[in-house]
Amino acid sequence: MNNKNLKLGNLYIISTPIGNYNDISNRAIITLRKVNLILAEDTRKTGLLLKNFNIKNKLYPYYEYNEKKNAKFFLEKIKNGYNIGLVSDSGTPLISDPGYKIVQLCRQKYINIKIIPIPGPCAAILALSVSGLATDKFCYEGFLSKKTSKRIKRLNELKFENRTIIIYESKHRILKCLYDIENIFGKNRYIIFAKELTKKWENIYGNNISNLIKWIKLDINRLKGEIVLIIEGYNYKINKKISSKIIQTFLILKQELSIKKAINITSKIYSIKKNILYKFLINNKY
Ligand code: SAM
Repeated sequence: MNNKNLKLGNLYIISTPIGNYNDISNRAIITLRKVNLILAEDTRKTGLLLKNFNIKNKLYPYYEYNEKKNAKFFLEKIKNGYNIGLVSDSGTPLISDPGYKIVQLCRQKYINIKIIPIPGPCAAILALSVSGLATDKFCYEGFLSKKTSKRIKRLNELKFENRTIIIYESKHRILKCLYDIENIFGKNRYIIFAKELTKKWENIYGNNISNLIKWIKLDINRLKGEIVLIIEGYNYKINKKISSKIIQTFLILKQELSIKKAINITSKIYSIKKNILYKFLINNKY
């Protein structure tokens, strides 16, 4: 597949399994065989995958810290007719994995190079698909910051997000992260804990956040492995108790003040975003 007659090669973004080798697609195998070289986040890990499928090809390291330099270097090769495949350690490249720089550069500067996606698993989408939470609108947050202050700030920004929220977390920080979610989102927010998807110890458990923490503490082994969290979006109907208190306060204030002032004060009392409160009151004709 060396494009000697063509001017440009292609860039293939190839998804690979997230734990279960049986999930690799035929197209992924064919493409991994046919490209001139493969860029891999970890050549050792991808080497094992290739060996398993008896694929012989050249592997070059392509990870976060060499991305900028390597993106330019390998794009020159594509310009010279090389077909290049890019994989990450698992799942879909670029989804909390390297690859962004080369795709971005290609789109912005080498617009004639074809970037071809070879589909396959992605832990976020898999977990979402079995969560039972709203899938029509969702937001992908990836990994929250390792720094507590930054993580808490971000969670506060997400508190009133009404789409389903997807979070990746490492087993080392997961409990801390769950406590932060409980403190900020409240005990009752429903959450799915999807662990070791597609692997032997796959476990998908859903409950409200405080019960989820209790469940984990019953068997600390539940923290082992790779985890995705799917969090229910903010929903006023579910928070009926709070909303009735909020409404009452608003209605009392409204008797004495303008609607704008009443909303301002109510939102301050309950640390709730003004525009969310406003929308709710309008939608419910208060
Ligand atoms: N690119 C990958 C994808 O498409 O899902 C994600 C790579 S990211 C570096 C690794 C994180 O993805 C893990 O920390 C975990 O949160 C999630 N993850 C990957 N594989 C998983 C699995 N089999 N089960 C649950 N979560 C997984």
